Amino acid sequence: LSTWSTVPAGPPDPILGVTEAFKADKDPRKINLGVGAYRDGQGKPYVLTSVQKAEALVDGSKPDKEYLPITGHAEFTKNAIKLAYGADSAPLKAGSIAATQSISGTGALRIGAAFLARHYPHAKVVYLPDPTWGNHIPIFRDSGFEVRKYAYYNPATIGLNFEGLKADLLTNAPEHSVVLLHACAHNPTGVDPTPEQWKEISDICKQRKLFPFFDMAYQGFASGSTSRDAFAVRHFVSEGHQIALCQSFAKNMGLYGERVGAFSLVTADPEEKARVDSQLKIIIRPMYSNPPAHGARIANTILSSPELYAEWETEVEGMAKRIIDMREKLYNVLTNDLKTPGEWGHIKSQIGMFSFTGLKKEQTVALAQKAHVYMTADGRISMAGLNSNNINYFAEAVSGAVK
Ligand code: PLP
Repeated sequence: LSTWSTVPAGPPDPILGVTEAFKADKDPRKINLGVGAYRDGQGKPYVLTSVQKAEALVDGSKPDKEYLPITGHAEFTKNAIKLAYGADSAPLKAGSIAATQSISGTGALRIGAAFLARHYPHAKVVYLPDPTWGNHIPIFRDSGFEVRKYAYYNPATIGLNFEGLKADLLTNAPEHSVVLLHACAHNPTGVDPTPEQWKEISDICKQRKLFPFFDMAYQGFASGSTSRDAFAVRHFVSEGHQIALCQSFAKNMGLYGERVGAFSLVTADPEEKARVDSQLKIIIRPMYSNPPAHGARIANTILSSPELYAEWETEVEGMAKRIIDMREKLYNVLTNDLKTPGEWGHIKSQIGMFSFTGLKKEQTVALAQKAHVYMTADGRISMAGLNSNNINYFAEAVSGAVK
């Protein structure tokens, strides 16, 4: 008998399943809107010019292949938190932000959850928005947290359920609960709080002593501006919250497979920061010893060169703009050209790579079978999968599915 004969087969990953079905489809009109990676106007993966130039500089400097320290490339980490918190952030200037390089955003979340599971001095209960990025649930659960939900999305309006959110955080979540917040471009809904609503959420966290744990996987990618997308993070910090923050350079630098990210915690002062840093090392060392160097060198080359930084900002803005253009175009074709029944304003008001279309599960199945259009069963589409070659075909397919 094999040692593993009793291992049960796990369910397939719902998003990767969409890609497999897409690959198996032989129709030339097929469209994959399941993937969470940017595509250019020709539907191709996109390597930023600033990244190509930075990589050439890194290669040209012929770096050795020695290990990085446990918490990674120190200059990269310093520049990454400056990008997130802003150069004039008080805790940044005071030297009281503990930070480490991470294996992209996922690794940052895992380090953060593990750190809180070990050192957060209150109950290990985390509130996640309903819905949230699917991986948040096992990341926190596998780190020893009890996972609960707070109201976020209202299917009736295809928008934010702000009253439900406030009620959950004000009355249902016990004091000192950890609250996970998507800093911008909420995945999967594309629905973000307004700046005024963020201020209220900050006040509620203060009043209820909730711990704000930010996941910022899309800085710059949502609005096209890295500072506008950091509004929530910077507001909370300016209000005195000791936040946790996860950063990813997968989307905004297109460094997906290089796995470049950072995890940071605001502490009281440099002495406390040093203690927290020492414990971050103790968490990371038995996980993977130290992070990969190449991607962090590329990101740091961009963040530390004024010319490459400016070029990168223009390219991030270009990616965000292309997505916003696709939203406009899709809205116009659905409503003006095709007179599709229903209200489609959410396509334009949502932000970031993803849009919750409001399509029902049966409609997504019909779209795959009849029109060769693939998306997740919750009706989420990646706007980045649309371009001028396929958007009319897609709109006609959606229009047909709801008529
Ligand atoms: N958090 C959210 C909300 C995401 O959407 C993603 C990626 O899709 C991530 C974190 C982490 O991605 P990565 O580990 O590739 O940086």
